Amino acid sequence: MGLRLDHGGHLTHGSPVNFSGKLYDFVPYQLHPETELLDYDGIAELARETRPKMILCGYTAYPRTIDFEFFRQVADEIGAFLMADIAHIAGLVAGGAHPSPVPYADVVTFTNHKTLRGPRGATILCRSEYAQAIDKAVFPGLQGGPLMHVIAAKAVSFAEAATPEFKQYASDIVSNAKVLCQALAEEGLRIVSGGTDNHLMLVDLRPFGVTGAVAQDALDAAGITLNKNTIPDDPESPFVTSGLRLGTASVTTAGMGPDEMRTAAHLIGRVLGDVDNADTIAAVRDDVEALCEGFVPYPTPVG
Ligand SMILES: *Cc1c(COP(=O)(O)O)cnc(C)c1O
Repeated sequence: MGLRLDHGGHLTHGSPVNFSGKLYDFVPYQLHPETELLDYDGIAELARETRPKMILCGYTAYPRTIDFEFFRQVADEIGAFLMADIAHIAGLVAGGAHPSPVPYADVVTFTNHKTLRGPRGATILCRSEYAQAIDKAVFPGLQGGPLMHVIAAKAVSFAEAATPEFKQYASDIVSNAKVLCQALAEEGLRIVSGGTDNHLMLVDLRPFGVTGAVAQDALDAAGITLNKNTIPDDPESPFVTSGLRLGTASVTTAGMGPDEMRTAAHLIGRVLGDVDNADTIAAVRDDVEALCEGFVPYPTPVG
């Protein structure tokens, strides 16, 4: 049982086109239709009704804090395993900017390459009683030989994530996200769930009358990289969408702060208000270049 893909879940959490949906009988839970937050009461009720063997929490497009303790209680009540896939927020968890699932989940998985800022790859943490079964499932179950250079890079990124500088980084990501989110709301965008607690935010473009696909391309042409994303109960297809997903991890690495977030929101607003106008896009592109001039995308690593 896991969050619906179009409510912020991940393809590997039971999508019919993924092995997880082909091999397992998947039960989707959802966001509350009004608050757009996890519908904790509905999730508990659905778990009691359907009694899944495993409950999954951790998402790919959910901007708010996850209550891992709640999921543990529900899992215990029905005798299910609890797995937390914290791919997106691993860096925030490591840096103390989001609660950790480790005290609650039986298994915690994460990618190393999102907010944790390490190499492309993943890590599995688990209770020792499951270690041997998981090791065997990875090798020889699924994977060939290890990539030793990637393992070395993971070690470096773990060492970085243990530093005070990384703690500051995680905290700055979240404060930048809050400023960007507020500034985008002031530009007239509807913020899904009304805000953000982590590194990302989802915005609803319908007030501007443009789709996610059109907005993504226009912003790309203006030098602003982000991605189209479904919003809860999106009337558009996943290839078109009514929303955008923005994150502050990379700009925070570059050293940008609240002033730059407000400038970025304004630049985004200018493009969204005029997506068909090549002059506006070119003018914004110049301003984006001027903004980025003072920052290096990958400054000297910490630690
Ligand atoms: C990104 C992500 C993954 C892994 O995806 P990759 O394609 O390997 O980056 C798994 N689960 C969640 C929730 C994710 O957000």
